Amino acid sequence: MPRSAWKTWLSVTLVLALIIVGSISYLGWRQSVPGVRAAFVPPPAFIGLKTPLTLTLTAARGGVASFELRLVQGTQKVTAIQQTVPPPRGNEQRLALAVEGRALGLREGGATLEVYARDGFWRPIRVDDRPILTQPVTLDLTPPTLDLLSATQYLAQGGGGLVVYRTKGATRSGVNVGGIFFPGFAVGPADAGTHVAMVAVPYDFPVASPIVLSAQDEAGNGVSRSVSSEIKPRKFPTGTVEVKEEFLQRKLPELLPERGSVPADRLLDAFLTINRDKRRQAEETKRAVSAKTQPKPLWQGAFIQPRNTKVFSNFAETRSYRFGGQDVDSQVHFGYDLAAVKESPVPAANRGTVVFAGPLTIYGNTLILDHGLGLQTLYAHLSLIDVREGQTVDKGTVLGRTGSSGLALGDHLHYEVLIHGISVTPLEWWDARWIRDHILKPLREANVALIEAGS
Ligand SMILES: [Zn+2]
Repeated sequence: MPRSAWKTWLSVTLVLALIIVGSISYLGWRQSVPGVRAAFVPPPAFIGLKTPLTLTLTAARGGVASFELRLVQGTQKVTAIQQTVPPPRGNEQRLALAVEGRALGLREGGATLEVYARDGFWRPIRVDDRPILTQPVTLDLTPPTLDLLSATQYLAQGGGGLVVYRTKGATRSGVNVGGIFFPGFAVGPADAGTHVAMVAVPYDFPVASPIVLSAQDEAGNGVSRSVSSEIKPRKFPTGTVEVKEEFLQRKLPELLPERGSVPADRLLDAFLTINRDKRRQAEETKRAVSAKTQPKPLWQGAFIQPRNTKVFSNFAETRSYRFGGQDVDSQVHFGYDLAAVKESPVPAANRGTVVFAGPLTIYGNTLILDHGLGLQTLYAHLSLIDVREGQTVDKGTVLGRTGSSGLALGDHLHYEVLIHGISVTPLEWWDARWIRDHILKPLREANVALIEAGS
């Protein structure tokens, strides 16, 4: 071979070799790019009649092109969801899916949820028949049972009541009144499934607010029943509160210590912070404390009003606040103001456990007693607290002394009755006949011996 031909042959061979090595490397790289990764947020433990699932799919390249969810039970493999994603395809997909358990045709019990997915990335060899994620689940297609046994027939705006029902197989049950959920508590023998939910109608809820009993199991299977109680309208008073500069100057260090000294032209602003923000904080605390309740009633008989006290402000009074001759704010007063002599003893309205003891913004030194099943009483503006959190007290036990701590003009007791943190009128609970007709009667109708009439 002449020398020049040898050279040409070598060059061609080298170029060919480069092309072959380059191609193989390129194909190798194509093959090595990882496929789609999958994750459930959160991983489901159950598949029920309709179970929402959030699935995130991440493709390194080429976007998510398609995915499939299968359920496997023994030798049975069922496609639950199958979707092709049209371009443009994102590399990260967050999918909100719902699996309808009954449509799968599988039996209740253990199963495996499998996720398959492919990206839009071309690779020389593709293996698509392997799941990229498997998740053990339990198929539960039986909703809890739910029977309404009895309920307070006449509720009222700003009032309370109770619903008795039977449920089996539920992990959460209770009554929804116009959008507020009141949890139920199991009472009596566990196998009977009897539950009681105390309910309240906020003072400003319409009389047509729907009342719905519902139960859910751990798979999310739900069932509900309408409660035919009637809500009676109530009228609530209005009032005016004159806010004096001298009063604010005196109260600010206690109610707004973070502000330091407040100049006269900032007094109104400071007052509004207290009357709005601090008041809202107190309401939030009341709702939070309502969760600290015993699953059984601790009380018996009518609640007591402190002796020789005069009511000088009513429940759900809408108050106009006047400052410097102007209406500056409007708020609702959620309790009864009771006054006697200065630093009067404050008796426990009924038997209960102290679940809150300490300062509570506008309420000053405050006590909250839990009477069980979500029923609580609140005592505010105290000058002295004689009990500690966790202590159980009998009806009439002196809890402390009245005072004027918090946003109080003079020495008095601010008293509230709360049902799961919703204020209701104390009048109902001071009235033995109201308790008999609205609380004990539905219990008796359902054959539940839970609360003695007592005195
Ligand atoms: Zn008050």
